[in-house]
Amino acid sequence: MIIVMRAGATDKEVQGVVGVIRELGNQEHVSRGKETTIIGMIGEERGIEEARFAGLPGVVQVLRVLTPFKLASRQYHPEDTIVKVGRRRIGEGTFTVMAGPCAVESQEQLLKTACEVKKGGAAVLRGGVFKPRTSPYAFQGLGIEGLRFFDKARKETGLAVVTEVMSVTEAAIVGRYADILQIGARNMQNFRLLEAVGRQEKPVLLKRGLSSTIEEFLLAAEYIIKCGNPNVLMCERGIRTFEKYTRNTLDLGAVAAIKKLSHLPVVVDPSHATGVRDYVIPMARAAIAAGADGVIIEVHPEPDKALCDGPQSLTFRQFDQMMKEIVPLAKVMGKTLVK
Ligand code: PEP
Ligand code: MN
Repeated sequence: MIIVMRAGATDKEVQGVVGVIRELGNQEHVSRGKETTIIGMIGEERGIEEARFAGLPGVVQVLRVLTPFKLASRQYHPEDTIVKVGRRRIGEGTFTVMAGPCAVESQEQLLKTACEVKKGGAAVLRGGVFKPRTSPYAFQGLGIEGLRFFDKARKETGLAVVTEVMSVTEAAIVGRYADILQIGARNMQNFRLLEAVGRQEKPVLLKRGLSSTIEEFLLAAEYIIKCGNPNVLMCERGIRTFEKYTRNTLDLGAVAAIKKLSHLPVVVDPSHATGVRDYVIPMARAAIAAGADGVIIEVHPEPDKALCDGPQSLTFRQFDQMMKEIVPLAKVMGKTLVK
């Protein structure tokens, strides 16, 4: 941490800061310039709030030297993390397509969709059984009954399964049925839930919060890794802005930023990012060009009858079209499709 003092700071003010640094068990490095004095704190800074210094007499600025996240940071882990999902490897050099309905509605709907997306080249089947809905009157998902439907879909298609965990109490049961545990955007900062999936063995697909900064997103990943689970997939799913023609604003800059700041794989969700079926394919193409390691796409046998997110769900035909367009792009980006 670097503490910048006001011009003409007195010795007493400088000593005040030095005193706090020592109290915290760290060492100081005082550098007196012509205009101002800068004090470097040598030692662990992550557990210390800037506020510890900001209010002291003579202090004008407190700057952190280290990233607030460590385990998620590329600084401490330069190699790309490859997340293993059974025999599949998700991350740098590969491209993974996850697809399926927003919500699991029936065994038949799930199975039909699973067969179609498998045929098209998807590797992972998505579908929510615990649905985080804005309205308490909206379809809330089939719950545990829906989880059982995944077993048949997995057995018949060989697809891996990703589904959302909404509460700490459900983490263990979802972990029994899913190959990847999804943390939804609305729960990105449910810290006890992050810890609960951090204690599980299964990889985690962590979705970016509706209004979260990239730093907050990476700190959420840090919680999971800190609890012992290093297999985190970062999912950019659009953030809230003033724009109304799209449901959210897809932040592709976040893909590039996370790839630079972190070693974790990045997956893009153009369905929730745009909210409009016709925009999903163009944004899936853009995600690949931006360096994403995968996409997660909503697909439904009859989108107009979907119980959740029909307007953004692709038809089977559109899904096939998307695959035709993105597979060659992934190749151009030096990535092989995970099957
Ligand atoms: C989902 O993927 O099913 C979902 C609810 O998305 P998000 O949490 O990104 O809104
Ligand atoms: Mn959805």
